[in-house]
Amino acid sequence: MNRNALASLRLRLFALACVAFAICTAQARAQSKTIVIDPGHGGHDRGGVPGQRVSEKMMALDVSQRLRKVLEGDGYRVVMTRNSDVFIPLPTRSAIANSYRGATFVSVHFNSARRAGASGIETYYFRPDSSNLAANIHRNVVAIAPTENRGIRRRGYFVLRRTNNRGVLVECGFLTNPFEARYALNPTYRQKLAEAIARGIQGQRAPIAKPLNPESAASVDVLPQTAMGPDFVRAVSRPRRVSRRSSRTSRRSKATRRKSSSRRRSSSSKRRKRTSQYEIIKVTADWRVC
Ligand SMILES: [Zn+2]
Repeated sequence: MNRNALASLRLRLFALACVAFAICTAQARAQSKTIVIDPGHGGHDRGGVPGQRVSEKMMALDVSQRLRKVLEGDGYRVVMTRNSDVFIPLPTRSAIANSYRGATFVSVHFNSARRAGASGIETYYFRPDSSNLAANIHRNVVAIAPTENRGIRRRGYFVLRRTNNRGVLVECGFLTNPFEARYALNPTYRQKLAEAIARGIQGQRAPIAKPLNPESAASVDVLPQTAMGPDFVRAVSRPRRVSRRSSRTSRRSKATRRKSSSRRRSSSSKRRKRTSQYEIIKVTADWRVC
C-alpha cells in the first residue's frame, strides 16, 4: 500500500469515527430527553386502602396522561408504563424503564391512610443521583398543592430500586382525606399537578413553599438520606422494646448492676447497631408500591 492510499484510508477511518461519535451523541441526547411515566397501580389493583372511595389508579393515570401531554409539548419523548386501566406487574414497569438508557423515571401515585386526617405531599427516591430530581418535583408540587409538606423521603420501593435510571415516586396527596380527595377529583387541579411535576422534571427549581411538617422531620420508615435539605426527612432507628429479660435485670441489686454496667453498655450499643442495620435491610426489602 503506497503513502497516498494509506493517507486516504486514515482519512476515511477518521470520518467514520466522527459520524459514529455524532450518532452516539445524538442518541445520548435523545435518551436524556426520554421520560418514562409510570401511573401507579391499574386493573385489579386499585391502590390505596380497602373501601377507599376515590380510586388511586384512575387519578394516577389521569395526572400521568396530562403530564405526558405537557412534556411532549415541550419536546420530550415520553414512554408510559401503562396508558389505560390495566395491571402491569412491578418487574415489567422496571424493565420498561430500563430499556431506555439514560431516561428519567417518574412514578405517579396518590397517598392513603386509615386516618382521614392524614394529608400532604410526599416524594420518594432511592438512587443517590435522583435526590435533585426528587427535590425539584417535590418543591414544585408542594408550591401548588393546598396541603402540607411531608417531605422528601428515601425508600427502597421496588420500581425505584430496580430501575437503573434516575427515578422518583411522587405521592400527590391523600385520597382518604376528604379535602384532598375533593381537590384530586377536580380536573383543573390535576392539570396543575401535571404541570408542576413537568416543571420539576425540566429542572425548574422552586423554593420551599411550606416548611416541612415537624411531625415528618424524622421517620423510622425511611433510609438514610444521600442529600441534605430542610425538607429531606431524616431516618431514625425504631425505639428498642423493653424485654422481660431486661425488666428482670432491672430488679437486680444496685451493686451487681454497677459491676456489669460497662459490659452492658458495650453489648447494648452492639445491639442498637444490629437493630438499626436490620431496619435498613427491612426497609430496602420493601416490595410495597405505596
Ligand atoms: Zn400508590
